[in-house]
Amino acid sequence: MKKILIASKNKGKIAEFKKLFSKHHIDVISLHDLEEDVEDIEETGSTFKENAALKAETIAQQMNIPVLADDSGLIVPALDGAPGIYSARYAGENANDQANNALLLKNMIDLKGDERKAHFICVLAIAKPGEVTQFLTGYCEGTIANETTGTHGFGYDPLFIPEGYHQTMAELDSHVKNDISHRSVAIRLLEKDLATLFFT
Ligand code: IMP
Repeated sequence: MKKILIASKNKGKIAEFKKLFSKHHIDVISLHDLEEDVEDIEETGSTFKENAALKAETIAQQMNIPVLADDSGLIVPALDGAPGIYSARYAGENANDQANNALLLKNMIDLKGDERKAHFICVLAIAKPGEVTQFLTGYCEGTIANETTGTHGFGYDPLFIPEGYHQTMAELDSHVKNDISHRSVAIRLLEKDLATLFFT
């Protein structure tokens, strides 16, 4: 079975990657599965692309194998793009999803209608030792609800109502999320060129 190393320790993301790649009979391993402990890579880039490259290239160099990394987040244009690259730590360095969602709601309290539009972005970086890193980007458009609802998914899912739906991502079944999410859009692009991007 082919294997992809995902440069992530985020259980929610790893689970989604596993599901998305399983239909291609590709086994997803993550940093949790490595015998060698890999130190957390600080996301010091100023764009999603820089942060994805940083994670993929650092691990690929360290382990000498091809690595897929993603950097993702939520963008609210009416908040000048926030939470953006700070999505995971919007409410502080060790903030949890609840605190991040609460801060987002607070900062959007006066925003109405189109001002509540938002999108998720996912940038995938594929780094192979000694080769130029490749990138793929997926988006998912939607609106930020006035309160959190639902228990599925992670992060901002309880606040994000995808375009064309009336429920939040956290209320929708996981197979629906896996069909429309920014990560699945980026992975579908990857799937088209999987052999050349990853296994050559
Ligand atoms: P990353 O691990 O640096 O890519 O940070 C991603 C952060 O963006 C997560 O911690 C979430 O807050 C948010 N995020 C990314 N993808 C999703 C998603 O599919 N649903 C909800 N929140 C997400």
